[in-house]
Amino acid sequence: MCRPIRGWGALGLCFVTVLLAAMLVNLYGRDAQALNVMWAANGLLLTYLLLVPRWQWGRYILAGFTAMFLGSVLVGDPLRLNLLYNVLNTSEAFLAALLMRPRSAQLPQLTDTKYLLRFILFAVFAAPMLIAVVFALVGSAAGYPRPELLFTEWIAPDALGVAIIAPACIALYRCRFRTKLDWSAIGMQILVAALTAIALRQPEAVLLFFIFPLLMFIVMRYGIGWAAMSLLVLTAIGGTLTVHGHGDFVVISENEPISPNVRFQFYLAAGLCMVYLTAVLMENFIHTQKVLNHSVALHELITTNLSEVVIVNDLDGDCLYTSPASEKLLGTGNEMDACSKTDEPAFPNEQRTLRGAIEKVRAGDECGSMEYQLRRRDGRLVWVEVGLKLLKDPATGAPLGILKILRDIDQRKKQEEQLREAYRALETLATSDPLTHLANRRHFDKFLASEWRRSIRLQEPISVLVLDVDYFKTFNDAYGHLRGDCCLKQVAEATQDVVMRSSDLVARIGGEEFAVVLQNTDVQGASKIAENIRLSVLRRKIRHDGNPLGYVTISIGCSSCVPRTGQLVRDLIDRADQALYAAKRSGRNCIATAATCEHRDSVAIAS
Ligand code: GH3
Ligand code: MG
Ligand code: MG
Repeated sequence: MCRPIRGWGALGLCFVTVLLAAMLVNLYGRDAQALNVMWAANGLLLTYLLLVPRWQWGRYILAGFTAMFLGSVLVGDPLRLNLLYNVLNTSEAFLAALLMRPRSAQLPQLTDTKYLLRFILFAVFAAPMLIAVVFALVGSAAGYPRPELLFTEWIAPDALGVAIIAPACIALYRCRFRTKLDWSAIGMQILVAALTAIALRQPEAVLLFFIFPLLMFIVMRYGIGWAAMSLLVLTAIGGTLTVHGHGDFVVISENEPISPNVRFQFYLAAGLCMVYLTAVLMENFIHTQKVLNHSVALHELITTNLSEVVIVNDLDGDCLYTSPASEKLLGTGNEMDACSKTDEPAFPNEQRTLRGAIEKVRAGDECGSMEYQLRRRDGRLVWVEVGLKLLKDPATGAPLGILKILRDIDQRKKQEEQLREAYRALETLATSDPLTHLANRRHFDKFLASEWRRSIRLQEPISVLVLDVDYFKTFNDAYGHLRGDCCLKQVAEATQDVVMRSSDLVARIGGEEFAVVLQNTDVQGASKIAENIRLSVLRRKIRHDGNPLGYVTISIGCSSCVPRTGQLVRDLIDRADQALYAAKRSGRNCIATAATCEHRDSVAIAS
């Protein structure tokens, strides 16, 4: 990763590289008696200024100036002129760095479009242009005949030096060589070198055209760092050959005022523009790809960890997407399976309901939801809850499809069922008698109260029978409590055999006492049913030696009325109780209605 450059080693490197660059370029220029194609030293110094902490600029500018001055003096250039050149050179690098780096912490980011534009504007054009103006003014003051030539001679090599050297070196420092020491990238540099050398050794430099696609390939495949390096190779070899009179750039016709160096500079500038533009486009492309990959990864992370199944159908019902959770919920092996309507309800009526809900959502209703059972691939039925939502085009708002979110609610449904069963069991426990499974006293009271109100409302007769087993104490004494319980069960069954109407209720209201509520039944009907119950018990012939008849018998008190508002239900029971006592008093095994008692003898019973 990129960090600011620190330490004396970097300063030393800056000094040495700037010195070498100044010496080399001056040597070439002098040998060929021509102007420089590119002034590399400024680009190098600017690179350091952009990368080192700003408080170190002073020492780098000093080192840069000394190196440039020394480099020029060492190759034998005049002292005073060099002083001027290199003061201007150093000022140019400083000015460019100042314009490029308004904030101390900012480091170069040439693949950022805005930064690149600022680099081109300030470092490549503005700074060299300003210094070129100063240079031309100084030249004019010194009596140079054509100061405008001084301007162009200054600006072109300096601008190219900055434009080529700075990105290449920054890329080197910023590790922008995407592949580290990639031999194929190095091979590309050799190819560029070879192609340039061959192209500029031909009288007709047609091969030069092919360097551009090669540069394009390098920037796309290996990044701006290696592409800038290729430009450097191109400049070094192409510039050397051009300066020494080789290649197509040196063929000058009579009326062609442009020098070979300037032609080559134009050629380099074109290549440079292409590399920069491609680098920016590529960086944007890579950035978009990164954002896209990130969002795809996030989407995958969410959908793979989501227990709900997400299904997207188009408006024709065809499946566009199914999330991975479908495998678990629907038992489908792959996406295609999941798309083959496996999320449809198992039963036709629910299929119709779901279709209706989808239609409603399509017509613009708010998100609908429903619960249904679907049949998994393994045949198992599963309860699911589906949420429906209309998918719209975010730009136009036009409906695109239906989003279904399926949630497994099988467990919840089972728990609900268990809860319902538990509630039913509890209700039965609370309302029934455990020995005989008849209604208990609590249920009897509630039921009678409700029937009483109903009878008041409809002005219908209502009757209550109170049954008591005769001589039951002696039964228990003689046969024990277990047999006593068994006897009570038989009496309960015998009673229920007679009371057939579902609207009537038989209850166990005490130890061996039972009661029957007969809805819409008058006294005659009630007496008849009471008699039938008495006979039903007798017919069971439950042996009871303590009973004069030798079998278990029951006595029944019967009371009935058409209740009026204000009358108490308690009275009805009390009168039935009184009737029961009357029956007991009359010798048992008989029925008494309210205060009267109808006695049955054993002969009559037997028949
Ligand atoms: P009567 O003919 O006058 O009714 O005489 P009885 O002996 O039946 O007298 P009573 O009605 O007072 O008897 C109640 C007896 O019922 C007392 C008790 O031993 C018995 N009993 C009450 N509940 C149960 C029960 O759940 N199981 C059994 N085995 N016996 C019970
Ligand atoms: Mg009793
Ligand atoms: Mg009794």
